[in-house]
Amino acid sequence: MSSRPLLMIPGPIEISPAVQAAFSVAPPGHLSAAVIEAFGRSIELMRELWQAAPSSQPFVVAGSGTLAMDMAVQNVVEPGERVVVVDTGYFSARMAEMLRRRGADVAVVAAPPGDAPALADVEAQMPCKALFSTHVDTSTGVRVDAHALAALARRHGALSVFDGVCAAAAERFEMAAWDVDVYLTASQKAIGLPPGLALCVASERALAARDALRTPPMLSVDFHAWRPVMQAYEARKPSYFATPATNLILALAVALAEHDIAERVEAHQRTGEAMRAAWRALGLSLLPVRPELCANTMSAVCYPAGLDSALIGRIKARGVIVAGGLYPGLQATYFRVGHMGYATTRSEMIERTVQAIEDALIDAGHACDRGAGVAALR
Ligand SMILES: *Cc1c(COP(=O)(O)O)cnc(C)c1O
Repeated sequence: MSSRPLLMIPGPIEISPAVQAAFSVAPPGHLSAAVIEAFGRSIELMRELWQAAPSSQPFVVAGSGTLAMDMAVQNVVEPGERVVVVDTGYFSARMAEMLRRRGADVAVVAAPPGDAPALADVEAQMPCKALFSTHVDTSTGVRVDAHALAALARRHGALSVFDGVCAAAAERFEMAAWDVDVYLTASQKAIGLPPGLALCVASERALAARDALRTPPMLSVDFHAWRPVMQAYEARKPSYFATPATNLILALAVALAEHDIAERVEAHQRTGEAMRAAWRALGLSLLPVRPELCANTMSAVCYPAGLDSALIGRIKARGVIVAGGLYPGLQATYFRVGHMGYATTRSEMIERTVQAIEDALIDAGHACDRGAGVAALR
């Protein structure tokens, strides 16, 4: 094994050797046969992993998760429309800001950090044009009940949009069965690629919402600009609107084909549960206030009494990179460990991570039994 530190943050993440190999080639042209095939295949595979209807439209655009969020906002909402945002942290707040900039009338339903708003509180804000939620908010490690929120939106005739950047292809999500309208992510999270692709799937209803807008979206994120390109690639034909990230497209087709959605959800659930057992054994508490709120893709772990963010440096010195806190005002009280994608299929990566954290804790003076973390993990 190399001595390169393990990247165990909530994205970018460790990627498989096969994905890295697919990416690491001289840049192909966007009209090359290899890119056309990989693009078309990726669109088909996205519908499978999203468990989306055949009538849904996947979009693959060069950019970040933030761009995918703007794409969703700009295509389903226009100035003056009322929307509701379920606020579970930093990324929900970003979505609310994007909606305000689009000119929407935004109602935010917030919860204390580590919690999620009660469904009744969300329902009290209905009706609205669209309900926006963060499936897993990466600042708190809180996963909302996406199925219940999607059902609530539908009952009130609202569109539902989920930021799945820290959840898609890892947490249970059935876009068609739950009748969700937009589910979006980015390449560097659980999908398992380097950063650089914004990915989203829009339902027929979301596409119709775009058709009905009087104020069109910014051209670079417009469904109308991109849909013909996606349709052409799916039909294995060349097309152009703006240059795709061709190396990433080659890698995307490989990454999406590595496991089916049932295997991915199972691997993340197993890993998430094992991580939580390890945190308990080490005497650590989590930011999410109830077990059912804990994401399987990452952990937001509180520093034990007397310790602070210097712990992150001690963990890094042991060869593992974890992330600091992100929730405004609470950054100094917890750290974040990503456990998504390739690492969930490599038990040695997960063990190395827990071992490094345990050693760093003991070194920093935290009282816990040596070996307890890895033993609990197993
Ligand atoms: C990482 C993340 C984003 C932002 O993605 P970028 O690629 O950094 O723009 C948005 N939402 C959630 C839930 C995330 O985890």
